[in-house]
Amino acid sequence: MALTPDAPPVSVGVLREHGAGERRVALVPEVVGRLTREGLAVLVERGAGEAAFFPDAAYEAAGATLGDRTAVLAADVLACVHAPDAGLAPSLHRGQVVVGLLALGGHVEQAHALGSAGVVALDLALLPRTLSRAQSMDALTSQASVAGYRAAIVAAEAFGRFFPMMITAAGTAKPARVLVLGTGVAGLQAIGTARRLGAQVTGYDIRPSSADEVRSLGATFLQLTSTPEGAGEGGYARELTEDERAAQQAELAGHVAGFDVVITTAQVPGRRPPVLVTADTVAAMRPGSVVVDLGASDLGGNVEGSVPDERVVTPGGATVVGAGNLAAELPTAASSAYARNVAAVLRAVVRDGRLDADSDDEVVKAIRVPAPAPTAPPP
Ligand code: NAD
Repeated sequence: MALTPDAPPVSVGVLREHGAGERRVALVPEVVGRLTREGLAVLVERGAGEAAFFPDAAYEAAGATLGDRTAVLAADVLACVHAPDAGLAPSLHRGQVVVGLLALGGHVEQAHALGSAGVVALDLALLPRTLSRAQSMDALTSQASVAGYRAAIVAAEAFGRFFPMMITAAGTAKPARVLVLGTGVAGLQAIGTARRLGAQVTGYDIRPSSADEVRSLGATFLQLTSTPEGAGEGGYARELTEDERAAQQAELAGHVAGFDVVITTAQVPGRRPPVLVTADTVAAMRPGSVVVDLGASDLGGNVEGSVPDERVVTPGGATVVGAGNLAAELPTAASSAYARNVAAVLRAVVRDGRLDADSDDEVVKAIRVPAPAPTAPPP
């Protein structure tokens, strides 16, 4: 990312995130230091890192310039966690680059606003994750790891007993029995964390390759007999048919009641999260049981009745935690990993001191969001 002599440095702006409960920041001081040494100018909105415990002074010490929102919005590149609000579109300029976990497919208003402002949107959610070169940019993985770790901590905190076996003068406590449904990036991290806390852990997934991964973490793999293997494209799961889903729910119901804690992380890219645990299954759990639904969203999650960002205690005494955005609850670790992902993307779009977001680089091409048709009406 060396500078072209006499060209002004490419500027990268870091905005303070405004989503409810969002405490992450797109760049952290350590990464800002590296980027400024590589020739970029970094502008940081005052207070942008505060909620993740990165004070303004640390950004300044790393070589960033602090400014108000208007000054930062003028940067050549805006690094964000989420897509900027549609209301900011008049402050953006043609050719400006916005990079983040934009998920514009699900945010039509923001997609239209960025498109009509002539902004080039680079969406980390579109990254081809199997390309080895893209792994340093893989924000879905870095944030899912944080969320999986946090899910086990949230479950342990909501649970009324110990996770590990405890032998004390007052008697012996049995270890908690934890079931993790969906053992991709987040699920494996939840398994590892629950194991480190001393729980007895079982994992389940429909991708056959996950069984060995679960066992390699010292957990037991739950093999269902009713559900066929569900490997889909690109290493992801496929969506089950209606009949397969019903059979899976029925068989899982028989297992779930035997666990103290259930953590669900199942996703199928581009689809609603599958319901794995029905309301009847939750009702059959013992009082004091805990369910953490990492897939909880406005579209519904893996657990019937879970509400994003809410903790519901059922009449039967089970606590259902609808965990919408757990990575934001560990903001320092999540932001540090995310910032390294963003920096890797910046290195792919700033070459020889010039911004080239239209490049033919296969990773940049894959994450560049096609501009919406100019005639498309706003929603
Ligand atoms: P994800 O968030 O899309 O899904 C989470 C898990 O839910 C997956 O393991 C999936 O199989 C499971 N699932 C979906 N429907 C289910 C159902 N009905 N019942 C039970 N489980 C169900 O996936 P992810 O965690 O992002 O990753 C999925 C796969 O991609 C993994 O194999 C992962 O190792 C792989 N991956 C590879 C790379 C890489 O090569 N660099 C990077 C990231 C992920």
